[in-house]
Amino acid sequence: MGEQNGVANTYGNLINGEWIKGSDTFVVENKYTHEPYAYISKADEALVDQAIANAQETFKTVKIPATKRYEILLKAAKLFGERKEEIALAICREVGKTITDARGEVDRGIQTFIASAEEAKRITGQGMPIHGQPGNEEKMAFTVRVPVGVVCAITPFNFPFNLTAHKIAPAIAAGNTVVLKPAEKTPVSAILMAQALLDAGLPKGFLNVVNGFGHEVGPVLLKDERIAMYTFTGSPTVGKMIKSQTGIRKVTLELGNNSPNIIHHDVADLDRAVQLCVSRGYVNSGQACISVQRIYVHRDIYEEVLEKAKQVADSFVVGNPEEESTNIGPMISVQEAERAEKWVQEAINAGAKIVAGGTREGALFRPTVLSDVTEEMKVMCEEVFAPIVSIIPYDDIEEAFAAANASKFGLQAGFFTSNLQLAMRAAQELEFGGVNINDVSTFRVDILPYGGVKDSGVGKEGPRSTVEEMTDEKLITIHI
Ligand code: NAD
Repeated sequence: MGEQNGVANTYGNLINGEWIKGSDTFVVENKYTHEPYAYISKADEALVDQAIANAQETFKTVKIPATKRYEILLKAAKLFGERKEEIALAICREVGKTITDARGEVDRGIQTFIASAEEAKRITGQGMPIHGQPGNEEKMAFTVRVPVGVVCAITPFNFPFNLTAHKIAPAIAAGNTVVLKPAEKTPVSAILMAQALLDAGLPKGFLNVVNGFGHEVGPVLLKDERIAMYTFTGSPTVGKMIKSQTGIRKVTLELGNNSPNIIHHDVADLDRAVQLCVSRGYVNSGQACISVQRIYVHRDIYEEVLEKAKQVADSFVVGNPEEESTNIGPMISVQEAERAEKWVQEAINAGAKIVAGGTREGALFRPTVLSDVTEEMKVMCEEVFAPIVSIIPYDDIEEAFAAANASKFGLQAGFFTSNLQLAMRAAQELEFGGVNINDVSTFRVDILPYGGVKDSGVGKEGPRSTVEEMTDEKLITIHI
């Protein structure tokens, strides 16, 4: 997998069960110290070609029984448990995520693998009501689900372990072979995942890993017709480009959001609602697709919420993510933190006020609360992807629903109320892939369906849904 090179490891590309070096390497920085954390061998066009050819050949020639796929995925989950500290430290260093959250991500990845293992054993078609059309009395019909073939997985930097798990584990559970391109900023934890799968007994060729920059490796992957399906998580810009370049082949896209959360005046526990809304805006320095961004608050409780929100934001310890006491580490790069700072400055110039935070030191961005914002400010209408939440008062709940929906995105939303009827209204009215009542947009259960509408993407993840996306339904009819 990797070899020592001074202090940092060099990691290769996984092709046909071997870790192969390309002609060139790139550096993965420790996002807190900015020192080289790992060197990654780049896959050139020839290596990417080999990876795809091998995945295709393996798919055609080697079959792993469902029970064996179940065993391999479970064994890998067990290995992740045994290697938890090593993987968590890799996530912590390559992402800048706090060590506590990094451990949480490994735990989630383990659950994603276990659920995927279980799905391997229950892939099923259905009996078909062929007698519902006259003239078919002598016939029977049913469907089976078959793997699509070679799946290309392209992953983002922010949850490099669990979001890779959400693609790789169901793909293997379904009987596909995979070519994975991890995010170039954070490839190490995905490489550790691939090694654990090999150690768990995954036959060579079922998972190939090609490393490199999106603009270099991406086009080679996208044009290759041997790939049957693309599963992408990342930015809407790249997602749209992938959809436009992959023709009639299957694509699932898990993209961005600017998650709205509404706190109504009748909320049962205001302290809990504010604590959740504000702190879940700072998960991974706000770099989560369902991170809380817009908080709509009924005017009766607005001032109280501003005060409580400030307390929550100010209580965050910003700093070295490897220290247990740190709540928030650096953003992915200084440039990204500068971009966020610019957006805050633009908002202030247009009349917004800082309730808490708003300052930056290198890539460390202080947890920020803004008020007096308007819908056209970037911090409101774009995906802010930084530890910044905005609090907006409303008078009428219809106004809040309309504002929450007035977005090009539609991934998840949160709504806090103690009125059951209103909760049901929110479930109907909010145009999102998921609506969490009395919880925040950031709440996600890995075993459940997850995915957005509008510019937030197409298709669902969650092991059961992903297995469905990664299999084709084949109809069989029989003349008796
Ligand atoms: P990104 O789009 O910059 O990169 C994602 C991946 O795409 C990387 O592996 C990158 O190398 C690759 N890529 C870049 N250009 C490419 C090209 N031309 N062809 C093929 N691949 C290419 O996204 P990011 O900055 O890593 O992640 C942040 C984004 O991901 C945010 O918008 C966030 O909301 C989104 N995201 C969504 C979800 C979800 O489940 N909906 C989860 C996490 C992150």
